[in-house]
Amino acid sequence: MELTYTGKTALVTGAGRGIGKAIAVELAKGGCTVVCLSRNIESCSKTADEINAFGAVAEAVACDVSDATAVKAACDYVLKKYKSVDILVNDAGITRDNLLMMMKDSQWSDVISTNLTAPFLFCRNLARAMMANRWGRIINIASVSGQAGNAGQANYSAAKAGLIGLTKAISRELAARNITANAIAPGFISTDMTSVLPEKVMEAAMAAIPLKKAGTVDDIAKVAAFLASDQASYITGQVVAVNGGLYM
Ligand code: NDP
Repeated sequence: MELTYTGKTALVTGAGRGIGKAIAVELAKGGCTVVCLSRNIESCSKTADEINAFGAVAEAVACDVSDATAVKAACDYVLKKYKSVDILVNDAGITRDNLLMMMKDSQWSDVISTNLTAPFLFCRNLARAMMANRWGRIINIASVSGQAGNAGQANYSAAKAGLIGLTKAISRELAARNITANAIAPGFISTDMTSVLPEKVMEAAMAAIPLKKAGTVDDIAKVAAFLASDQASYITGQVVAVNGGLYM
């Protein structure tokens, strides 16, 4: 099934690397114009250059999503230039793992502001234009940690569980305007985020996954691309688990 997004504009946060980059490329392959947003201009520019090289349209925008003023400025810029964002993918995320008793206030607040508050801000800033267009797709990248909880990730699990709640609430609010909102909950995906994990943790993770392997960024990108398409028009408020069976 070939998915096309001709005439559509997407904004993908975290598009500099990993899952966000794969989603940006996948949407662009279907003819979507993609605004690739990440913290560092170097990384999102690389993604945009890669997309432009195969003839699709992409632009890099640097923005620290944990800074509400910067998020507003980025959204205002994108709306002014492209009139609307049809597909919003909230992918940017960080981990600051620690056990509860040792978790610092900053580890808690950094993860909440980047992984939960930022998606809320992007949704709030961009939903009006989607509502006016009577078409929209919001895709929030959650995590198995937000579904099952994970020791050492009280901050991250809370943020991702919150993101699932945000997704369900706004899916109800926006459905009448033909806007869907869904979450994807990846399990263990090979990216920079997981490459820093100790070998022992990796081995334990692989042992716990029924499919006995890590997922790839494309495993997530293909699902995001489907949820962003017209073919997924009757799917909203869902959490799509892409985790090799790790959590059922
Ligand atoms: P990576 O660490 O590989 O990439 C993270 C991306 O997010 C980068 O492009 C980075 O920007 C961007 N980013 C981080 N913080 C900010 C910020 N403050 N402002 C703007 N951009 C920011 O992560 P993954 O691809 O592995 O993860 C992507 C998403 O998927 C995250 O939300 C993560 O929680 C989730 N996820 C990942 C899993 C995995 O196993 N990898 C499992 C479950 C969920 P820059 O490139 O400029 O540094």
